[in-house]
Amino acid sequence: MQLTITKTDTLKPKPDESSLGFGTIFTDHMFNMDYSLEKGWHNPRIEPYASIDMDPSTMVLHYGQGVFEGLKAYRTASGDVQLFRPAENFKRINRSSKLICIPEIDESFALDALKQLIALEKDWVPSAPETSLYIRPTIIATDPFLGVRASHTYRFFIILSPVGAYYPEGFNPVKIWVTREHVRAVRGGVGEAKTPGNYAASLYAGERAHKEGYTQVLWLDGVEQQYIEEVGAMNIFFIIDDELITPMLSGSILPGITRDSVIALGKSWDIKVAERKISIDEVVAAHDSGKLKEIFGSGTAAVISPVGELKYGDKVLTIGDGNVGPIASKLFNAIQDIQYGKGQDPFGWIEPV
Ligand SMILES: *Cc1c(COP(=O)(O)O)cnc(C)c1O
Repeated sequence: MQLTITKTDTLKPKPDESSLGFGTIFTDHMFNMDYSLEKGWHNPRIEPYASIDMDPSTMVLHYGQGVFEGLKAYRTASGDVQLFRPAENFKRINRSSKLICIPEIDESFALDALKQLIALEKDWVPSAPETSLYIRPTIIATDPFLGVRASHTYRFFIILSPVGAYYPEGFNPVKIWVTREHVRAVRGGVGEAKTPGNYAASLYAGERAHKEGYTQVLWLDGVEQQYIEEVGAMNIFFIIDDELITPMLSGSILPGITRDSVIALGKSWDIKVAERKISIDEVVAAHDSGKLKEIFGSGTAAVISPVGELKYGDKVLTIGDGNVGPIASKLFNAIQDIQYGKGQDPFGWIEPV
């Protein structure tokens, strides 16, 4: 397959790097590729960023048949642009696609196309501290058809958005609401896929958490409402008795690339790491006996998100002393140092553009 590149005649003005925010500004170009039963994936192209013209009956709008990814490009001190474990994102989009009956893409072709797109948009990669270029690969079902079945046509696109520091006011703990009424996903469902419906399904509980004054929801398992799954759209970690514990991948949890990186770093620092079932009762008991030292979330957007308070039923738990714990802080710095090329890359996670 031959990638064609069509450049825009009119470049957009670049935004002020000190007030980027998240996900509102998009670059000059995007990647597009189409799928049909006859041709498979075809017509890969980089072209000016543009709206997608759709029939109102387009299947993704009605049945949510779509998958997406999220990763970032980082600018190093020397001005180079680099990606963090991007091959993992393309592997994961194919795993998501399989569950949603979307045809798989060629992972190495997609990664190469992404690199060419970023090379063309290099000037859009911001250089202010902790800013980056957020990358959103997406696949949507495009048949104009009402009826529940897998689509016969798809569009794969990649858009880019310069984003600001996730913690402009500094790295501070968040308050989390544990819900016993709502569930995000169940084993055997599509919780381990990055698919739009999972996020639509999380909104109602998220709004309830906000009304109660909490930033995010901590999800318990969909069957017993006892075992911890994730926090918002992040994976979750606990430090209990100097052990780093995270829920094992059960089928209902998103297999985070940051999660995998935290596990690898923890092991390399000789921290005891366990991927296992962990119940909310165990967390409350560890808190009450003084063994629960830290809780933090992990994900591409925030890297590490320390938790300062948990509300479960009528109980409000302050985690540690309510400040950022040493392991959360060490992980945040270590991962960022690798991403921005400030530290060594012992695991080979960096991919230059
Ligand atoms: C994307 C996502 C994560 C984090 O994955 P990363 O690869 O670390 O960014 C965790 N949970 C959910 C539900 C997600 O959508």
